[in-house]
Amino acid sequence: MHALRFRIVWLTVCLLLGSFGPSMALCDTATKPKVADLLVQADNSKTSDHDRFLRLLNELHADSADLSTEQKFYLDYLQAWQNGYQGDYQASTSLIDALIENSGDTILRFRGGLLLVNTLAERSRFDEAFKQLNLLLGELPEISDPDVRAQAFTTAAYLYGEAGQYGLASSYADKLLKDHPAADEISCKITFVKLGALYRDGKFAGIGQQFQNGIDLCLKVGDTLYANGIRFFVASLDVQQKKSGQAIQLLTDHDAEVRRSGYQWQISQFDALLSKAYLDTGHIEQARESALRVIAQSVQDQYAESLSMAYQVLYMIEKGDGNPAAALAYHEQYMKASQRYQDALSSRVLAYQIVQQELLSKKLQIDTLSKQNQILQLQQAFGRKKGEASRLYIVLLLMVVAFIAFWAYRIKRSQLRFMGLARRDGLTGIFNRQHFVTASEQQLQACRKSAREVCLVLIDLDHFKSINDTHGHSVGDRVLRRTVATCQAHLRTSDIFGRLGGEEFGIVLPDCPLEKALGRVELMRLAIASVTADDDVSGICISASFGVASSSNSGYELRQLLIHADEALYGAKRDGRNRVNVSLATHQPSRAV
Ligand code: GH3
Ligand code: MG
Ligand code: MG
Repeated sequence: MHALRFRIVWLTVCLLLGSFGPSMALCDTATKPKVADLLVQADNSKTSDHDRFLRLLNELHADSADLSTEQKFYLDYLQAWQNGYQGDYQASTSLIDALIENSGDTILRFRGGLLLVNTLAERSRFDEAFKQLNLLLGELPEISDPDVRAQAFTTAAYLYGEAGQYGLASSYADKLLKDHPAADEISCKITFVKLGALYRDGKFAGIGQQFQNGIDLCLKVGDTLYANGIRFFVASLDVQQKKSGQAIQLLTDHDAEVRRSGYQWQISQFDALLSKAYLDTGHIEQARESALRVIAQSVQDQYAESLSMAYQVLYMIEKGDGNPAAALAYHEQYMKASQRYQDALSSRVLAYQIVQQELLSKKLQIDTLSKQNQILQLQQAFGRKKGEASRLYIVLLLMVVAFIAFWAYRIKRSQLRFMGLARRDGLTGIFNRQHFVTASEQQLQACRKSAREVCLVLIDLDHFKSINDTHGHSVGDRVLRRTVATCQAHLRTSDIFGRLGGEEFGIVLPDCPLEKALGRVELMRLAIASVTADDDVSGICISASFGVASSSNSGYELRQLLIHADEALYGAKRDGRNRVNVSLATHQPSRAV
């Protein structure tokens, strides 16, 4: 059922970008009334009239010589918003980072910070998103603009929803709606966040009417983007309740509008749900077309939830058509996408727990300090009138302090444990895919700066499925752990080792020339091939195939290295398995973003 619970990511980026324009202090109206006005108009039309927004943005870029320094930052902010809307998070983040560092406008920096929270959430960096949000909430006393304050609270409600705290998210949204009774764009966005939380929490009582009211409100204020976001919930619920025909009707009625908006996230949501609904109603060709569209649109595989649904639909179609090879290939992609989605889900819940614990431990530290103050005051008083009973009181207070300190220590410890868990694969204890990617990207950047060579190795166990089929899943699990231990014996502390999926692993070897890397990989291959599983599972032969790519050929972009190593791995499989194959492909410089 979770597959239907689509996330609502960039819609929330738009949340940060409501109509704040007129109250912002950065429009230098005295000297440049025209561009100042254009900036505000662009800001106000981002979600309500996206075509106009794009036109204004182009105009502003063309006239950028006329802009003051702060107005340029404002334009950067609008451009960063647009980059995120199209799914180009990297370009969005670097503009916002520069803006936060250099702009002199408190409100603009604050709005930039909110945009960053959403970008971090979208990239599944939930611990950083929560930290950034906490910082911003701490700055709220300096923000007097009521609309910007409302946006900050709406972002908090959204992030709580993302962390699986649906009850908290919807009660937050309720409070916001109470403080903001006007029927305007802000209340449309809050309503959208609230309905998302209710829907994902499975609180369906009376939700049909609430959906309709939300759509009416958003249409009344001209916000079709959010109206379509709510329609998506309606259609998801229809599919869930086996009313797929109704879902198709609703989705296709608004399909052209959604496509015109250019909002990639929503387009992929509509297509994925449509493919499922078509499959349910036996429209196989339409189901296939919609699913293939999701895959074609997915920017760098980031829409994991839509992708997972699309691959599942394609898998079912091929299975139904009696094409086992194609079905298997799609099933593998489906598993990969759904694994990525599950990783993101578990990391966001952990991130929420970590932040809660940090808050609790801060509170305990403050309590401890205030108790210590009380003790000092009492000691001064006791200096004047000493007495047995008073000393007893001091002892009691000291015990309270010790008790609080003990709990603060316990909480810190479990906080560290949570952070460790969020990065590890449960079965083998090595890095999970998400942390492998983060750590590898950092390492690659460091090596690029000092021009040191890095190699990436992809490992895939051979015929692993047949080990599972013959000896059972728990033996398969033991083989996976044994393989990891065998490789670890050949790794240095600086090497990064992670499990990328079922029986697939990745190793980044920093500061290691290709020839040396090949020597080490060959040792690993031989070591794995000489393992005959565990003592209690004797007789199982294990082997693995290896694909190796080096920064000297492929450059320092992780994505490129992964593609080349994967091609090499595929070659090793094709040539008979149990071998090491090196990518000879050369780096194609990636398109500037
Ligand atoms: P090839 O040599 O072409 O790589 O064949 P293969 O059988 O190794 O590859 P395939 O991708 O067909 O099968 C991988 C299998 O790994 C399928 C899946 O059931 C199994 N698998 C995935 N995750 C786990 C896990 O955590 N534990 C166990 N025991 N099996 C897993
Ligand atoms: Mg395999
Ligand atoms: Mg595999």
